[in-house]
Amino acid sequence: MNAQVLDGRAVAATILDRVRGEVADFVESFDRVPMLATVLVGDDPASHTYVRMKANRCAKVGMRSRQVRLGSDITTDTLVGHLRQLSADPEVDGILLQHPVPGHLDERAAFEAIDPAKDVDGVTRTSFATMSFGEGGFNSATPGGIMALLDAYDIPLAGKHAVVVGRSAILGRPVGMLLLGRDATVTYCHSRTTDLAEHVARADVLVAAVGRPGLIRGGWIKPGAVVVDAGYADNTGDVEYEAAALRASYLTPVPGGVGPMTIATLLAQTIRAAREHEAARRADPELTTTGSGRE
Ligand code: NAP
Repeated sequence: MNAQVLDGRAVAATILDRVRGEVADFVESFDRVPMLATVLVGDDPASHTYVRMKANRCAKVGMRSRQVRLGSDITTDTLVGHLRQLSADPEVDGILLQHPVPGHLDERAAFEAIDPAKDVDGVTRTSFATMSFGEGGFNSATPGGIMALLDAYDIPLAGKHAVVVGRSAILGRPVGMLLLGRDATVTYCHSRTTDLAEHVARADVLVAAVGRPGLIRGGWIKPGAVVVDAGYADNTGDVEYEAAALRASYLTPVPGGVGPMTIATLLAQTIRAAREHEAARRADPELTTTGSGRE
């Protein structure tokens, strides 16, 4: 078998085209430009690249972005203060705190300072709960992007055995919840899992979310499985690509698979947040906006 590529770049481009149209309609209707605020702590070069890419994509779809950069020596209280300020700022529609933050900071406390109505990266407990219960909150961006990619290729999930390797709060755990919500039978694997190879070999749908190049051997993949490789380290995924391509039916490339879908989901959720904020303002005229951002 030679796997069909799940082309995240192409699917993301289609989503971003749609978002561009939605942004233009929004500006026309409300006479202001939606805004995503990004918060970056420290000087990790990869995080700088990710934040720059997100700002570039905002510009391409006609959104504004505001970049807040903070030194690696700040305290959790200072970070929480910045996030609360952005949460209260009527010009800001969506907030992204670039993960991971330096180890001395309480990342969970920082995430919880984001107003769930602006949590377009889907990192708050509220978003996790509404997403898990299928109640319409914002999806965690990477998991939401993975689901959109699977849907773009009409991959059936109901009744399938999905194995998620990794259980982080931003990726492994929420993608398992989304798969469960689509009636897959879900197994989680993590660093304490014994017999990883045996679990992987039973997966109809495999999501790798670890960050260890080549951890998952191509020979472990069940013939015909759908393989989504979200891992990214040294420009390489978690799955041995060439060997997996001989067994899988569908496979994401790294790069060009999950990464572009994450940004597309983030921006799709930002324009949705902007529309919801305007609906809330119509319902309660006390909520006002300052500055349209229109040239
Ligand atoms: P993380 O917080 O470090 O979590 C890694 C997970 O992998 C943990 O749950 C860990 O288990 C598990 N793990 C570690 N070693 C393992 C092993 N030998 N066998 C099985 N599981 C193992 O990382 P993350 O933030 O979730 O990110 C994971 C990867 O996805 C990274 O490469 C990251 O760069 C990439 N990523 C990509 C995107 C994108 O848009 N493409 C977005 C986010 C992340 P424990 O819980 O037991 O420690």
